[in-house]
Amino acid sequence: MDNYIVSARKYRPSTFQSVVGQKSLTVTLKNAIQNNKLAHAYLFCGPRGVGKTSCARIFAKTINCLTPTPESEACNACESCTAFNEQRSYNIHELDAASNNSVEDIRSLIEQVRIPPPIGRYKVFIIDEVHMLSSAAFNAFLKTLEEPPRHALFILATTEKHKVIPTILSRCQIYDFSRITIADIVDHLQYVAQGEGATAEPEALNIIAQKADGGMRDALSIFDQVMSFTNGNITYQAVINNLNVLDYEYYFRLTEAVLEGNARASMLLLNEILSSGFEGQHIISGLASHFRDLLVCKDAATLVLFEVGASIRERYIAIAKQCSDAFLFKAISLANDCDLNYKTSRNKRLLLELTLIRLCQLCRPADATAEEDKKKTLIEPVGTATATPASVPPSAAHTPVAAPRPAAPAKPPVRPTSTSLKDLAGEKPPDPQSNPAQATAATPNLPFTAEALLTHWKSYAETLKAKIHLKNAMQSCKPVLQENDYFEAAVLNPGQQDELANNASDILAFLRRELKNTNIQMRVRVTAETAGKLPVTSAEKYEYLININPLLKQLREEFSLSTD
Ligand SMILES: [Zn+2]
Repeated sequence: MDNYIVSARKYRPSTFQSVVGQKSLTVTLKNAIQNNKLAHAYLFCGPRGVGKTSCARIFAKTINCLTPTPESEACNACESCTAFNEQRSYNIHELDAASNNSVEDIRSLIEQVRIPPPIGRYKVFIIDEVHMLSSAAFNAFLKTLEEPPRHALFILATTEKHKVIPTILSRCQIYDFSRITIADIVDHLQYVAQGEGATAEPEALNIIAQKADGGMRDALSIFDQVMSFTNGNITYQAVINNLNVLDYEYYFRLTEAVLEGNARASMLLLNEILSSGFEGQHIISGLASHFRDLLVCKDAATLVLFEVGASIRERYIAIAKQCSDAFLFKAISLANDCDLNYKTSRNKRLLLELTLIRLCQLCRPADATAEEDKKKTLIEPVGTATATPASVPPSAAHTPVAAPRPAAPAKPPVRPTSTSLKDLAGEKPPDPQSNPAQATAATPNLPFTAEALLTHWKSYAETLKAKIHLKNAMQSCKPVLQENDYFEAAVLNPGQQDELANNASDILAFLRRELKNTNIQMRVRVTAETAGKLPVTSAEKYEYLININPLLKQLREEFSLSTD
């Protein structure tokens, strides 16, 4: 225990200039000193550890300095300054109202107020956590605060301004201290690290700053802790390991899986994170923040709201470019709702998984799912094969559904890319097979109803004489119209799936002709036999979760999410 001094003390600011993150406030205080316009009572409000007491001490020292600098800073050399810096000045009295809040405490302070300072001009009384004073103590103090001697100056500090009675508030000049920004904290930590001869990765300091939540004192005490176990080599990895912080690498990987619409990958990642000991709520609130950070990265105007370290800013910006605003809005909402429902949920893991699945459903770009879809997506119109998955409602290909959708399905959430189906359909060369003589390329594709689709589906099935298996397959399922002239047929087994697949071109040619629309696309899926099984599909999981937490129903309705 030799001469070790904690950084919060060692690097305590000694001038207004060196106060971190409260620029406008310290400038105002300096101006007041310069213009000799001192009030006799100040109230410093703000969160803990943002510099209220430090500023109060600097203020007390500066107004007592015998030879202040032209910038109205304390000289830190005169007799008064030296006494302040060595903590032996008689011009400053501090009372911590959190532990000394009785009438007696205030009375002994008032005794001190009467006596003029031995040197310097002002006796400064700092009352910390002033809202903790008992009401009797408040009343005893009020008269002194109203008519103090000329040499007395009060600085009251509080983290809870609303608890300070109005009669006190009205007698004080009020200064609101703000949380210190991450960037300011990082800068200061870098400075402290240099002073300590330590090396520090900016990302590591960034994590410390985030953890400190805007308080410099906390940041410095975390810094000390990190210093001691890294021996002055402060790396990102060491910091996240020791502070039990979730590596943002995981969030990047989750985002990647979500953008690919890869629900399975996202669930595996979740498993990996959970098994390394992180709390589910922590994961999901972090993910919500991650999406929020991506959102503010999308625009130069909002980039100021981005508080993650500059060193990984480029990476955020690059990922943000892949996300549409609409996707990010929904993603933040989904993650946030999961966060809100997490505590009340009885199957927390499932809630997390469901949220990830929902997130994945927001995105279904082409490549990631093409392989999986191959078996299920049997028919693509010529020229649109690679584009189709993006146009498919998000849930369709991955998970077989228990029951066919209603005829008017919920609108699929968000299409993440700027590629719109309309454009793709426009580029599609006309399919000669489905364009018989009367339907020339100039003929516009007509919209059609779910009923019309069903009618023609049935009538085609009726025409089948020899193909009895195909006929059965078609009659046992009902085509469900999705958006953009795309429909889905959910069959009972892989045999039926093959039947429809092998005859898809004929079926589609017929439907396109009858419905006068060359854009019609079909997807065939096998429905799950679900009775008595654990929830597997998201629809089943949804039903299961509704039983546990009925709020989910509201969530689904509010976002017009589909249940499959
Ligand atoms: Zn001085």
